[in-house]
Amino acid sequence: MKYRSCHLIEHGISIDVSSIKACCLSRDFNKGQLMIVPSYYDNIIIWDKLFEIKRYQRLLQKESDLDACEGCYNLREEDWDEEDYISYINFDHWSQCNSNCIYCGVQRYKPKTKNNVLNAIKELIKQKKFRNTGEITFQGGEPTILKEFDQLLKLFINEGVKIRIHSSGILFSRSIRDGIKKGQVTVVISPDSASKDVYKTVKRVDKSDKVWANIKHYRRNLKGDLQSLVKVKYIIIPGVNDTYEEVTLFLEKIKQLDIKSVIVDVEYAYANTNKGNISPHVYILMDYIEHFCKENGITYDLYDSALYADKERTFEKTSVFNKDELKQSLEKFKAYRIQSNIRYN
Ligand code: SF4
Repeated sequence: MKYRSCHLIEHGISIDVSSIKACCLSRDFNKGQLMIVPSYYDNIIIWDKLFEIKRYQRLLQKESDLDACEGCYNLREEDWDEEDYISYINFDHWSQCNSNCIYCGVQRYKPKTKNNVLNAIKELIKQKKFRNTGEITFQGGEPTILKEFDQLLKLFINEGVKIRIHSSGILFSRSIRDGIKKGQVTVVISPDSASKDVYKTVKRVDKSDKVWANIKHYRRNLKGDLQSLVKVKYIIIPGVNDTYEEVTLFLEKIKQLDIKSVIVDVEYAYANTNKGNISPHVYILMDYIEHFCKENGITYDLYDSALYADKERTFEKTSVFNKDELKQSLEKFKAYRIQSNIRYN
């Protein structure tokens, strides 16, 4: 039966520090996310109960869009699968990180270790309720300092599922590198800058050299399709890294290291508070990066806030990319180079 839904309402969970949701996306500060278990802390995840709730949410979604999902770019009208299984898991259940990004809303307190997560995943697999048709994402805190990271990674590599890991890149992980070589793991590192000063402003740690060295290390000796499994991200942060010079430095670094995949996003707090009113200079920078990627055979993708910004775009696509004209167009919108009015801690 055809109805509007998404792969995460159907078969997704996102495990965070205190709750389990269908996904980690949030279109609107006020609407929150699609909750499945509001408060699980160190409780055991009871899969039968969780599937019951997911079945109910599917029923509601058939009637009309669930509140938290309204306007989401993932909703599609399709013949959805009614079976109970999980094929998308986002791990977000720890908050420790070795970076301290200005756009991160995660509180870096040290929560109790959640031994239950690893055990729950083993149980899910044992019950044959996990299918490898989706994707596993690690997003959390920093995966490379998560105690059970290697064990979780090994489990999912054995299951043959695709895995996407968002890492600060400050530490090099052999498990990640081995997973990339097998073609199962994608690593996404977001330096958001190529200059040490801007990196330090954004990340509030002084690790720019280390991160770019690790990106190079992950990229080393990769051939063919494996090359695009090392993705480097640039989050455009108005007032911080949104200049022609900074973006150009970043692109030069991408070229120098022969990176084959670039992701662009727009700072979530800025995008959310300026919905439908994103500054033209943000679009010009997005167009510039896209153009550079096309010219150099690099894959260009947008992440969440940038995807919404792109959908809402009324500002004409940039067509001239020489340095002087680009700088002139950016200069025209200089007044928009304001800082986001919501910034964390
Ligand atoms: S918010 Fe979007 S991605 Fe998340 S469950 Fe709803 S429709 Fe799916």
